[in-house]
Formats: sequence, C-alpha cells, structure tokens
Amino acid sequence: GAGPGDAGLLTLRGLQAIQQADVVFHDHLVTQPVLELVRRDAELICVGKRAGEHSVPQHETNQLLVEAAKAGKTVVRLKGGDPFVFGRGGEEAEELRAHGLSYEVVPGVTSAIAAPAYAGIPVTHRDAASSFTVITGHERDGKGVSAIPWGQVARLKGTLVFLMGMENLPRIVDNLVGHGMDPATPAAVVRYGTWPMQRTVRAPLAALEERVGEEGIENPAVIVVGQVAALRERLSWA
Ligand code: SAH
Repeated sequence: GAGPGDAGLLTLRGLQAIQQADVVFHDHLVTQPVLELVRRDAELICVGKRAGEHSVPQHETNQLLVEAAKAGKTVVRLKGGDPFVFGRGGEEAEELRAHGLSYEVVPGVTSAIAAPAYAGIPVTHRDAASSFTVITGHERDGKGVSAIPWGQVARLKGTLVFLMGMENLPRIVDNLVGHGMDPATPAAVVRYGTWPMQRTVRAPLAALEERVGEEGIENPAVIVVGQVAALRERLSWA
C-alpha cells in the first residue's frame, strides 16, 4: 500500500519494501513523491490506466508479477491507498499463492479514511457517527452499485464512504434518498485527498451533484455522507 498520495503517509515497512525492490509495478494513483523513493536502478512499470488509455488487464498484471518473481527478482506491487481496500490485492495474492511464490502484504493508509481526514472530516465521532461503511460506487458487469443493499445502507446511522463513485454520483444520491435518507444529510466530496491539489465540496446530500458539477470535481474522489461531513466547517486544516 502506497497510501493516498502524500509520501509522508507511506508506512516505514512500505518504504523498506520499495527500497528492496528490483521491479515495481504501480497504479496510476501512486503519486510522484512516492515513486521517487524507489531505487534509481529499479525498474518502474505502470500497470494502471492513464488518461485516455486502457489499464493492463488484471490477468496480464498477474502474469507480469509471476514472471518477474520467477525470474528471481524482488517484486513490489505498489497500489494507491491500502491493497486490500478495492485494490484487488486479494486476487493478486491468490495468483502468487497458486504459483507457490512467497509474498508479504504491506497495508497502506486508505483514501477512504485519509481523504476525509485531510478535509477535516473524521469518519467516526462520538457525537456524530459510531460506524463507517466503505462502499464501491463502481458498476461492474451488473454488480457493484446495483448489488448494494440500499434499503439497509440508507438506514445506517453512521458514515458512508463511497470510492470510485463519481460517475455514479446521481444514482448513489437517488438510491439513498429513494430509500428514505434525509436529503438534508451533510455530504462532501474530496478529490485528490492528501495531494497538493486536494479539493473539497460540501453540500447537503440532495445538492451534492449540482455543487460537484459547478466545481468540476471528478475522479479520483471519495464521497462522504453523514453527520460527520458537517464537522469540516470546524475542523478543516489542510
Ligand atoms: N486501494 C485504494 C482504493 C482503490 S479504488 C485505497 O485504499 O485508497 C480507487 C478509488 O479510490 C478512486 O476512484 C477514489 O474513489 C479513491 N481514491 C484513491 N486515492 C484517492 C485520493 N487521494 N483522494 C480521493 N480519492 C481517492
């Protein structure tokens, strides 16, 4: 896990791992300041999608990891945030296990918590939320957004954090309000959390889409829904 962007949020173990690596396969969400910590003589390979390009299909990424490891190289698979939070880290670990390759998982600071934190939004707070739920906002083969039990989600009293949700923002809001959530519930969108160009938009749930459109906020961004979002006005610091 490379953390959400700010190189200061890379773990010590993560730093040790990337400095031991002969080859680093990274995503597009891994920021330049983190990539600069990779050894100068190591190979740096981007397997994530860049603007307008397609990402390397998952099975090819798996194959690249396996081939490099079998060639005797020390391999790091560097992912934005935490590798096991919507990062396909589990799938890649299964592949390595299937090939009898040894590996170690280095957790990272997930954007689901860090992006709100850098916007002054604590995902839990004794007065405002005693749970937080991290949900995919992405639709895949009929799964994803539509597979979410909206009736239950809309009734949760805690914080909701959606990743990969910007393209589906209108549907997410409709689903929540349609299943009984108060349209006045505080909400926020944090783009490029912990990066120098971090931006935050705050609005009641029902007005979020319009505000996001006005500000031109797109991916990568997290959507936060719940009373904690209103704390930003008091706690904003970054
Ligand atoms: N494993 C990652 C999540 C990968 S899914 C993690 O733990 O953070 C990719 C989604 O993560 C993006 O669509 C966006 O919703 C979110 N994301 C990743 N980095 C982000 C950042 N710096 N700021 C805001 N959202 C981010």
